[in-house]
Amino acid sequence: MAKQETVEHKYVYAFVEGNKDLKELLGGKGANLAEMTNLGLPVPPGFTITTEACKAYLATGEEPDGLADQIAAHLASLEQAMGKRLGDPEDPLLVSVRSGAKFSMPGMMETVLNVGLNDRSVQGLARQAGGADQQAAGGADRFAWDSYRRLIQMFGKTVCEVPGEEFEHALDDAKRAKGTGNDLDLDADDLRGLVDAYKKIFFKHTGREFPQEPREQLDLAIRAVFESWNAERAVLYRRQERIPADLGTAVNVVAMVFGNLGPDSGTGVAFTRDPASGAQGIYGDYLANAQGEDVVAGIRNTVPLQELERLDKKSYDELLGIMARLEGHYKDLCDIEFTIERGKLWMLQTRVGKRTAAAAFVIAGQLVDEGLIDLDEALHRVNGAQLAQLMFPRFRLDHEFQPVAKGIGASPGAASGKVVFTSARAVELAAEGESVILVRRETNPDDLNGMIAAQGILTSRGGKTSHAAVVARGMGKTCVSGADEIDVNVPQRRFVVGGQTVVEGDIVSIDGTTGKVYLGEVPVMPSEVVQYFEGSLDPEHIDNALVRAVHRIMSHADARRRLAVRTNADTGADAARARRFGAEGIGLCRTEHMFLGDRRELVERLILARDNADREAALAALLPLQRADFEEIFREMDGMPVTVRLIDPPLHEFLPPLEQLAVNVAVAQERGEDVAQEEALLAAVRRMHEENPMLGLRGVRLGLVIPGLFAMQVRAIAEAAVTVTRSGAVARPEIMVPLVGAVQELETVRAEAEKIIAEVVGDSGVEVLIGTMIEVPRAALTAGQIAEAAQFFSFGTNDLTQMGWGFSRDDVEGAFFWRYLELGIFGISPFESIDRDGVGRLVRIAAEEGRAARPELKLGVCGEHGGDPESVHFFHEVGLDYVSCSPFRVPVARLEAGRAAVETDGSDSR
Ligand code: ADP
Ligand code: MG
Ligand code: MG
Repeated sequence: MAKQETVEHKYVYAFVEGNKDLKELLGGKGANLAEMTNLGLPVPPGFTITTEACKAYLATGEEPDGLADQIAAHLASLEQAMGKRLGDPEDPLLVSVRSGAKFSMPGMMETVLNVGLNDRSVQGLARQAGGADQQAAGGADRFAWDSYRRLIQMFGKTVCEVPGEEFEHALDDAKRAKGTGNDLDLDADDLRGLVDAYKKIFFKHTGREFPQEPREQLDLAIRAVFESWNAERAVLYRRQERIPADLGTAVNVVAMVFGNLGPDSGTGVAFTRDPASGAQGIYGDYLANAQGEDVVAGIRNTVPLQELERLDKKSYDELLGIMARLEGHYKDLCDIEFTIERGKLWMLQTRVGKRTAAAAFVIAGQLVDEGLIDLDEALHRVNGAQLAQLMFPRFRLDHEFQPVAKGIGASPGAASGKVVFTSARAVELAAEGESVILVRRETNPDDLNGMIAAQGILTSRGGKTSHAAVVARGMGKTCVSGADEIDVNVPQRRFVVGGQTVVEGDIVSIDGTTGKVYLGEVPVMPSEVVQYFEGSLDPEHIDNALVRAVHRIMSHADARRRLAVRTNADTGADAARARRFGAEGIGLCRTEHMFLGDRRELVERLILARDNADREAALAALLPLQRADFEEIFREMDGMPVTVRLIDPPLHEFLPPLEQLAVNVAVAQERGEDVAQEEALLAAVRRMHEENPMLGLRGVRLGLVIPGLFAMQVRAIAEAAVTVTRSGAVARPEIMVPLVGAVQELETVRAEAEKIIAEVVGDSGVEVLIGTMIEVPRAALTAGQIAEAAQFFSFGTNDLTQMGWGFSRDDVEGAFFWRYLELGIFGISPFESIDRDGVGRLVRIAAEEGRAARPELKLGVCGEHGGDPESVHFFHEVGLDYVSCSPFRVPVARLEAGRAAVETDGSDSR
């Protein structure tokens, strides 16, 4: 047999054979159970069936060769270690069969407890649990039958798809017959009766008896866990969390320990720090005389973990010691699941715990202080998406708004919306563009669709570790859980709180930080983190752990990053805000808005000009207006580069729409008014109409066709720079020509511009750079030539994406992107995150060939990708000099540029 095993693929690992780095193969749960076992912590023995076995099963619909034998061998070792046999009628070994993928998917897949119980071994279990103690025997009987009914219930639901409510109803009936609302009041006889009822339900739905053969139970449960990987809710969760679909789940077979053996037993979950705020201390929930699933399901009300100190000091102290040890070992916040069986503590799970955005920053800062990690690692552990979340507005609370209830701040944020009570309704209203708050007593995995659709989630039961809380935190969605003053009535679609009734469609506001619930829509204000960026909170002088942690990590990101971060800003006000957020220049100042408002009239004059004199008059009138705009921006950005893009959109975009003009003309004619001007405009609009404006007369093409237009803009820029510089500030203009595809276009514009600049600048000391956008694929492919005429390139990755793929953003996002995402043609929209392989390749080629032709060429990016975390990493890799993004994304880009630098350096030194 030993010989055979060496050639066979290894599908099963005993806990002692694994470790925490084998998540891919053993899943997170299995890898960490192995790690804890090897740390010498009290973990019930067991083994893990690999994700490879799962993948093989899912591919063929059959267990791979050798798996059954390997399971048998490991089961035999487990039986030996425990001194019991699976399902032995006299003294049965029972096991749990637990899913566990590489990435945690809370509650998404299946677990079956108490495998190995049948009509005979349930008696053996009772006898063993009772021991010699006569008094304990009654309790032991109850315990054994309770365990058996749980097995039939979980097995029926998970393995055989028996509808779970049928079991729930039978349980409710049993309690009603007993005149109680509490499971614990059911005695052994009641539970025996319930087992009979459950078996009937099982038979009704499956057409067979509940399987009595322990090994058959085990094999079927393992199969069901494999299959749960492809359950609808698991698929949905993976898509939402961007977890790859082909990882498969491992299966853990673990010797059962019992938290339901009486008052000196129980089960709980805990975090080594507060996963919501990051505060130090122990956070958890404990439930006496219960089996594990009861806690997470929120079925019974738990007590705070601190209570355990009173109930069982020895176990409590041991638990705290273990938690400290795990934190030191994993160097991070851990969450754990444990069970106490008659005063003996057992560890059933640990992992590096999910946390809110605020907690991520606070904990990373604390761990640096505690000497467990360095600042590079702290930077690595937070991300731009979290920072962006911390920049969301908060409720502004004055006396008008009194909370009507207070629950647990389970996942922070401020959310207002219409109340809905079902997942389906949440999805419906959200599809109509409504913002909704999903209100439930507690959520379960079937509510996932509604949770995704909702702005926030409010539950009346469950703690920080309830399903709603865990899933909402994972999604970064606002959640208040356990608001028990709220009496939720789902069938009637209403809840009652403090004597008031709130029905579906009413508006409520929930604060996921404080746990407070308000009726109506509460106004919002900037978050603390934004106040800090704005300069109104001084991190050195306030007692705010979050702001201090953000400050510290941002400072480190700034010290580490190689990419500069600029902003896209068209006005002095935007420029000023972005500068406070840390922008080091403007990467894109659009000039379009300088042609809007009451200036439209001048544009009309320009378009309708009959001769040179007319046109020059219109341009001359625009010149001082533009100059004033530029002066304001240069002054705000004193000393920093400002990239101004010459006018880009087609000029007809500045004219009224065709239909409107046609109506105007008709009405005026009717009234016998003079319509010459209107008619001329109408004729111009007709003449300038384009089938594909995106690919039409715009960008550099306008500059080459309309005499004097670019010249006027160049003059306004140069004159503004001279004026600002003469007044003592430093203006650093960079003139950017849009939509260039050929070097000759740029050369023509540049020749004219240089003449004007030389004339205006004189000896003022102002230096004006001239460069181009790279946004047409041809420009990227001829970048070597274009660089001869350009002092800088700025990648316009929006247009480059549109033209690279050949689709227009406005038309396609609603039309078919959903299908492309569904089919996996994109993992994410290429407008959100740069398409590395295609559009990214164009960027790479242009950067390399541009630099080869002109080594001092400055390279930046000014599309929306400049503020997208993934894309920032790509631009770092390509070696650009800067990214430019909207003012609010500037901190995100700074952080991600720092992370990209840390990650690259890390791999350099390896
Ligand atoms: P999930 O991934 O949904 O958390 P688990 O596999 O952790 O599912 O199982 C759910 C609960 O069942 C656990 O929290 C634990 O309390 C209980 N459980 C699992 N295995 C055992 C076991 N061997 N003995 C006692 N309780 C167990
Ligand atoms: Mg678990
Ligand atoms: Mg463009």
